[in-house]
Amino acid sequence: MKSREISRRAFVRDLGRGGLAVAVLGLTALSCSDDESSGETTVAPTSQPAVAPSTTEGLLAPVTWERVNLGFVSAYVLARGGEAAIVDTGVAGSEAAIEASLTALNLGWNDVGHVIVTHLHNDHQGSLPAVLDLAPDATAYAGQEDIPEIQSPRRITAVGDGDTVFDLTIIETPGHTPGHISVLDPAGTGLLVAGDALNGRDGEVIGANPQFTSDIPTADDSVRRLGQFTYDTVVFGHGEPVVGLASQQVATLGASL
Ligand SMILES: [Zn+2]
Repeated sequence: MKSREISRRAFVRDLGRGGLAVAVLGLTALSCSDDESSGETTVAPTSQPAVAPSTTEGLLAPVTWERVNLGFVSAYVLARGGEAAIVDTGVAGSEAAIEASLTALNLGWNDVGHVIVTHLHNDHQGSLPAVLDLAPDATAYAGQEDIPEIQSPRRITAVGDGDTVFDLTIIETPGHTPGHISVLDPAGTGLLVAGDALNGRDGEVIGANPQFTSDIPTADDSVRRLGQFTYDTVVFGHGEPVVGLASQQVATLGASL
């Protein structure tokens, strides 16, 4: 149910970005297609305003993002409206690479409002202390059960299902670690930052790595959970991003586990 809600909201946001011109074109296309399929010639224009965007929520732009490719692991910088959220921080010493991604987005450390750590493993939390020192205004977030194992110079805010950070949806995805979380930008076509709940291999989505996963049945449940949301792109701690109908791949994967 939740996934449908989010999917519908993303759809409305898409319309919002396109504006009225697209809505009018859409009406024309709909009329033509109805003519062909049903033979009916009357499609009342008055049926359109039901999907027309009318709230500010419809104007939310999708994030632009940069992958901080650290070799065997990646962190991500998500930007929207001149502000950034960093998701994962790589191993210790990754702050220069993260800064380069901020620069690529025309942003600096002072623009970082949020640092989300998907889970406690060192290749994801290693540079959190350095990042928080460099980004004085940033709040740190992680899943409740992983927080005691994450080193941080400031308090870490516990987040889970039902929470949003920077208009990003937090999804609890335990299994790889007990407090693992994933991050979804539902705006536009959708972007999922999956941490280590999923991995990329040869252009495809695979599940959590059994070698480093504490509870595989729970991790498999989390894969199925992620398959219930809608996003075109998924990015991972390990592996190349998958772009194009990504959530369908995850749903298929989940059904196979
Ligand atoms: Zn991990």
